[in-house]
Amino acid sequence: MATRIGIAGIAGRMGHLLAEEVRAAGATLVGGVDRTDTVPPGVAKFPDMTALAKGCDVVLEFTHASAAQGHAAALAAAGKAAWVIGTSGLSAADEDAVAKAAERIPVVYASNFSPGVNLVLALAERMGAALPADAYDAEIMEMHHRQKVDAPSGTAVGMGRAVAKGRGVKLEDVMQSGRDGNTGARATGAIGFAALRGGQIVGEHTLIFAAATEQIALTHRAFDRRAFASGAVRAALWVVGKPPRLYSMMDVLGMT
Ligand code: NAD
Repeated sequence: MATRIGIAGIAGRMGHLLAEEVRAAGATLVGGVDRTDTVPPGVAKFPDMTALAKGCDVVLEFTHASAAQGHAAALAAAGKAAWVIGTSGLSAADEDAVAKAAERIPVVYASNFSPGVNLVLALAERMGAALPADAYDAEIMEMHHRQKVDAPSGTAVGMGRAVAKGRGVKLEDVMQSGRDGNTGARATGAIGFAALRGGQIVGEHTLIFAAATEQIALTHRAFDRRAFASGAVRAALWVVGKPPRLYSMMDVLGMT
């Protein structure tokens, strides 16, 4: 039987692309939930996550951070459908709720579902481990379309976490974001973030290691949001039937 997939955020930009990718993958699109009514033609709209989860093997979610805790509780209580969540801007409490749901159902949570970015994340961790923090200043620059509501992007934070992990520190202890005014000199070991917004840029991320004697930059550019949608559908097909746990896109790609 074809995998039955539901989409939370079905009326959104990702929701529309996901609906196309689910159908292209030969899976069954059960329907979706959204705060608005502009769902793609021929897609059933469900009243809430509990109703949607009942008929699905897996729910794909690309909505807003404010939805994460409620949807985590609804899916965990249903205890049936797996969950693939790509919403960005999740707080620590939101992420705790996602992890708690993963005790009941299998969950894939990723700040970026493109295979290329996940390879960059793996390299970022290795670079963080190889390039000492007292000599190599790590900076992350990202640019996105003008509609993006959170900053820095989830992917940029993910890159920072990877570098921090390689360095054996917690990102929260070394993160410097949104510098402005008289900031003082750069702290040794800091991981810096700069966010640019404009036009319709799908997503650009550059990780820089700047030392006195050399500089290394690793850039990923997404040209089409379909890279995220097809990756998320790949994750959905992979996660069905897995034991309850919090998985990453690296797990899906077999990179762990
Ligand atoms: P969008 O604004 O076009 O769509 C979001 C949709 O979610 C809207 O239709 C909105 O009505 C709906 N929504 C919001 N709150 C809801 C709720 N409580 N219940 C049901 N529906 C709700 O945004 P988008 O560009 O499609 O992106 C959605 C999210 O996915 C953002 O957080 C974005 O940053 C993230 N994103 C992640 C990846 C990734 O690879 N992880 C890729 C692209 C976008």
